[in-house]
Amino acid sequence: MLLTTEVLFHFQRCRRRAFLDSFGDTNQRDPEPEFLLKLQKDSRAHRQATVATMTYCQPNFSPGDWAAGAAATLELMRLGVERIYMGVLAASGPEGFTLVSCPDLLVKQPGESAFGDWLYVPADIRLGRRPKLDYQIMAAFHAFVLESVQEASPPTAALLLREKGTYWVNLATRLPQMQQLVRECAEMLHRHSEPEVFISRHPCSLCHWVSSCSSIARANKHLSLLPGVTHSRYEKLQALNLTSVEALAGAEPEVLEQMPEFAGGVAQQVVLQAQAALQNRALSKIETAPIAGTFPTAPVEFYFDIEAQPELDLVFLHGVLEIDRHANTERFHPLLAKQPSDEGAIWEKFLDVVWAHPDAPVFHFCDYEVQTVKQLAKRYGTPAHLWLPLLSRFVDLHEWVTRTAVLPVDSYALKSIARWLGFQWRAGAANGGHCVVWYDQWLETGNPFFLEAILSYNEDDCRATHLVKDWLASFLLGVGTEG
Ligand code: SF4
Repeated sequence: MLLTTEVLFHFQRCRRRAFLDSFGDTNQRDPEPEFLLKLQKDSRAHRQATVATMTYCQPNFSPGDWAAGAAATLELMRLGVERIYMGVLAASGPEGFTLVSCPDLLVKQPGESAFGDWLYVPADIRLGRRPKLDYQIMAAFHAFVLESVQEASPPTAALLLREKGTYWVNLATRLPQMQQLVRECAEMLHRHSEPEVFISRHPCSLCHWVSSCSSIARANKHLSLLPGVTHSRYEKLQALNLTSVEALAGAEPEVLEQMPEFAGGVAQQVVLQAQAALQNRALSKIETAPIAGTFPTAPVEFYFDIEAQPELDLVFLHGVLEIDRHANTERFHPLLAKQPSDEGAIWEKFLDVVWAHPDAPVFHFCDYEVQTVKQLAKRYGTPAHLWLPLLSRFVDLHEWVTRTAVLPVDSYALKSIARWLGFQWRAGAANGGHCVVWYDQWLETGNPFFLEAILSYNEDDCRATHLVKDWLASFLLGVGTEG
């Protein structure tokens, strides 16, 4: 049986993913998320652009035939070519597994190996800017398999990062961590032992088993669906036999908070979270009456949501929903950059819209809008009087909700809360990642369908924010605890 780079990559993020990819029913798999497909496409393009500046040899073999790939790569190594792109390495591993690693590059260096007075070091080309731990573990895996193939330890392994250049992986630290993972992964696959479902935003949101795992978790009312129950906290709860929502709802926070994982108010939060789920209603975290009067409400209010393309460092849409409570009117302002060069123009239009009502609060969800306004002001040299006073009008509804209420939701993201309140997005299960993909498709094809999809998605985000605000205003006044 094979233990590949890909299996190990998924194993370190989620053991169940590695198991299901090997033994799961493929009919239960979701299509790959569009955002993930875009990332993979961008990654391939980046890899090709990087090697286009180098001279290299590429082993010739049919895709998927790893044994032929390993033989062709070995032949190139014996010949002593300077660089091998997309080679395959294979070696024996634990539990009778064959370890198969596919480094992006094998780079020749002076040294002693089975081939003569040269050896190879592995290098992976990464689209990311940071040397994430899972990238480093993969690089250590390449080095480990390569050692068997060339009968000499590679002195290092490299990550070629976008913008940041070469990162040298500390193999002394990463090799033992990787070997432990390889042993555990081989044992799990050998024993055919299926790991328990554990839903967490990362990595589940980009996993093709998420529908199947989520329905299992919901059917079992799994504690991982409660915000705040992380892997490490779940292990502690298991040790205390607090593995059901009912048991956790009846637990004593004072007992839990003895453990560092539940210190700092976490014990109280997770117990309340279980109680909210059990009763299927919102609970108050604090006495709300004294602060109800401080929650902003004004004749005119704005609801604001940004769409951006992080790869291009580009803000392409300011969506602003204007609600005039006195006139009983509402107007959506879709301030869209049809081309990246329009970013500055839509920023100025945004300032015009929000300064048309200088006293109107600007409701948004999470900190992203505030940070982005600061960045845009800096980028475009906006005079301080046009943006600094604006910040004091911003009201972060996520902060208000999480400070005051405990909801029967599986996350405090806008989608979860608004859906609990009955809101439906016209685009179904779409998310911000889809908008990024749609914007790229608009730039590539010029098809207005993609712009319309972005605008309706963003308008729904603004309307969902409005709904959450109205619900919270009632909740703080002591009415309305149901979704
Ligand atoms: S959905 Fe989540 S729990 Fe299920 S396999 Fe994927 S990452 Fe693991």
